[in-house]
Amino acid sequence: MLSPLGLSPSFGFGDRLGLATPGHIASVKGTKFAPIFAQQSVRENTRTGRTPQQVMDDAKRAVDAAKWDSAWGADADHLKTVDDIPPFISAGYTFFTVDPGEHVNNTADTDSVDVLKQKVAAFNWDELSALYLNGNSEQAWGRLAKSPNGETESLMRATVKYGRAIHHAITMFKCLSDLKDVFDFEVSVDETDSPTTPLEHFFIANELSRKGVKFTSLAPRFIGRFEKGVDYIGNLNALDVELSKHAAVTAHFGTYKLSLHSGSDKFSVYPLVAKHWGEHIHVKTAGTSYLEALRVLAKHEPGLFLKIYSLGRERYETDRKTYHVSAELDKLPKTDDLPSLLEDFHAREVLHVTFGSALSQFGVELKAALVKHDNAYYEGLKTHFGKHLSLLK
Ligand SMILES: [Zn+2]
Repeated sequence: MLSPLGLSPSFGFGDRLGLATPGHIASVKGTKFAPIFAQQSVRENTRTGRTPQQVMDDAKRAVDAAKWDSAWGADADHLKTVDDIPPFISAGYTFFTVDPGEHVNNTADTDSVDVLKQKVAAFNWDELSALYLNGNSEQAWGRLAKSPNGETESLMRATVKYGRAIHHAITMFKCLSDLKDVFDFEVSVDETDSPTTPLEHFFIANELSRKGVKFTSLAPRFIGRFEKGVDYIGNLNALDVELSKHAAVTAHFGTYKLSLHSGSDKFSVYPLVAKHWGEHIHVKTAGTSYLEALRVLAKHEPGLFLKIYSLGRERYETDRKTYHVSAELDKLPKTDDLPSLLEDFHAREVLHVTFGSALSQFGVELKAALVKHDNAYYEGLKTHFGKHLSLLK
């Protein structure tokens, strides 16, 4: 049944085409993960031309057909304003991800101390400094996440960087609470310009808790690069150290899960996440199921695949703008071995971010091809997500 998933380990299967859920069900069955079968951001809905209700209906149809009888969730992803909320409420979503990224002040990382002093005046600085500094009540602030800059400066940076974002998340939570009794609530700052330090993670979690926001998961932005549809780019040893500090923060609260966004294909990171968080994780994926659909085309409908690939090449520079990707067009591989193209870093990212353009031009043909080769699609999804889930154990 459709319900909030609370602190159970969970896995989000975004499905941009509305045809992937049978494969998602096959992969998650028998694992410890509670699934999210409907998960779509406002940005994705704009690009796919689907409504929250359609996304929900597509997932439900597959859930009913498979006679899935355990809990599953529906995630209204990356909600940015209160106006984004109502269509997801009416469609029965159970999990709400609020993205206050537009309210994060990214220059706080480099502002001089004098500038910071001016900026914190706009916040309840007296209250915050009394709470966090000089060994006062929020001692974990210093204990959990020592900062080279000294506590006062770090608190000023955290306040300036995240103060308005926290305020916005509180507003969104209140709005949701007026509309719904029980729901999963996630706060995500994964798409901001700079990483969230463990100290800032602590500050965000503590401020939200202090203000009565009941959140079930939080998505910081980690060091290195979590790009769409490809493995982690960065130093894994440094990430391991950083994750251990973030894990100390989540363990201190014990009230929410760590959420990993752009979570698909991060095969080198999953063992670290499993080591540090165990059961307390939520992982989000979306575009990787679309790439699996393209893999089916590359094998069974190469003509259509090539049309989508060349459209991707045309659209990439425009469509990439709201995503964190670094593929370069002049590094795209030749097209003599199509299925292996889906293993190439540059091809994956280009195809991943141009899905909206591909769907508006070839959506009907693409869906018809997947219906025709549905078993190949489900098998591909089962194998692909089986690899994800087994590494997260
Ligand atoms: Zn995200």
